[in-house]
Amino acid sequence: MSPPVKSVPSDPALPPRADVVVIGGGISGVSAAWNLARHGASVALVEKGVIAGEQSSRNWGWCRRQNRDERELPLAILASQIWDTLAEETGADLGFRRTGLVYATDKETELAAWECWLGMARGYGMDSRMVTGAEVADLLPGNARTWKGGVHSPTDGRAEPALATPILAEAARKAGATIHQNCAAREIDFAAGRATGVVTEAGRIACDAVLVAGGAWAGMLLRHHGVKFLQASIQSTSFATGPGPEVTSGGVSMPDVTLRRRMDGGFTVGLSGFGTLHLSPRGALQARPFFPTWRTRRAKLRYRLGRSFFNGPDSLQRWGAESPSPFERVRVMDPVADPALVRRGVSELAAAYPALAGLGVARAWGGMVDCTPDGIPVIGPVENVPGLFVCAGHTGHGFGTGPAAGRLAAELIQGDKPSVDPRPFRHSRMTDGTDLGGMDLF
Ligand SMILES: Cc1cc2nc3c(=O)[nH]c(=O)nc-3n(C[C@H](O)[C@H](O)[C@H](O)COP(=O)(O)OP(=O)(O)OC[C@H]3O[C@@H](n4cnc5c(N)ncnc54)[C@H](O)[C@@H]3O)c2cc1C
Repeated sequence: MSPPVKSVPSDPALPPRADVVVIGGGISGVSAAWNLARHGASVALVEKGVIAGEQSSRNWGWCRRQNRDERELPLAILASQIWDTLAEETGADLGFRRTGLVYATDKETELAAWECWLGMARGYGMDSRMVTGAEVADLLPGNARTWKGGVHSPTDGRAEPALATPILAEAARKAGATIHQNCAAREIDFAAGRATGVVTEAGRIACDAVLVAGGAWAGMLLRHHGVKFLQASIQSTSFATGPGPEVTSGGVSMPDVTLRRRMDGGFTVGLSGFGTLHLSPRGALQARPFFPTWRTRRAKLRYRLGRSFFNGPDSLQRWGAESPSPFERVRVMDPVADPALVRRGVSELAAAYPALAGLGVARAWGGMVDCTPDGIPVIGPVENVPGLFVCAGHTGHGFGTGPAAGRLAAELIQGDKPSVDPRPFRHSRMTDGTDLGGMDLF
């Protein structure tokens, strides 16, 4: 069942031309469209389904800098500053609160990894600190488990996925962008090697720049045009409880389960690291660079051969500008929640928080996390294709960083000085032999 999401009106007619066409109405595309429009560009955003229909409404709502890869930390720090301003700038409450996050564990190896991360992060001014088991107990009243220790990031926060992206989309419209839902981009137009427009199911839009912000589908569209983009999707399961006692006002991560307080008084519960890998021909073709990550994650992965083999973002489909594309066949990718994982989450939650045991499951859903082999997104130009830009591959971290990722993409498109160093996010690392290593995913 899809999680709820605030609906956003569409603009009735496609413009024949825009400075920039943004493909994808998740938090990346919408934030980029907003930033572009308020800096004077004409922008059309096309979304095959509805604004925030996929990952951007299905996530846990954590806005964290804690445990970010060093290459991504400056982006997460910028995002956290932007989140502070969004309510005032948009005139609406996106649910952002700096309520703090606590990671608790009973594993020495995890504590050692967090300690090592903190050593690096202090150089960036992070105020997180390692905490003992007794301190974790103080920070998490009502938690019945005994923990060896943890890490506390007091100024990280949370926001509401049901609201944030739609509110940013409305802000983009107010700034002059047009938004077109149920309008898939079938192809990108090229002339003399540069991107010159987008062919949508409702017609063509000529433009100077195209931003592919298609989440899990970005790789499929890029590959259709011969642009390499290594991306794999992991299906994960989350659920929402009804309202309950406020055992935490922020987020708590335990080894197998996470919870985050929502504005409506319920909790969004995630199953950390658990997921299903859908087997596909594309997955087999690009398996090698993902191998190191798969090796660290495999204990919590299941495998499935299902419909996505034929119609998902990793399927091998062909299409043309004049016929329906795979993007129209799956308007909103709505994977089912894994019932075994929901049961496990319910029992882990009750074991950790007896006071939440009776809350039940108000709604459960699946979501496809789009991952790159090195665990950080691509944000920026496709170097050898003028006019073509990408903002995708956020690997389970992109809700919190979304406002900064969109800003960075807009700056790079408009030729402005980037707010953070864009080099770690360059597309060319997918093609120039860079060691993509592999790392932990959220
Ligand atoms: C279960 C789960 C938990 C998560 N928890 C967190 C968290 O707590 N914190 C965090 O920071 N991140 C989290 N994430 C990750 C975060 O949700 C994503 O990284 C982020 O939402 C990605 O945003 P996006 O805009 O890149 O992609 P999406 O939100 O997936 O949006 C892409 C959009 O593009 C559209 N599209 C694709 N192709 C086309 C086309 N050809 N034409 C038109 N439209 C197209 C799609 O329909 C989609 O709406 C989580 C993800 C999941 C699934």
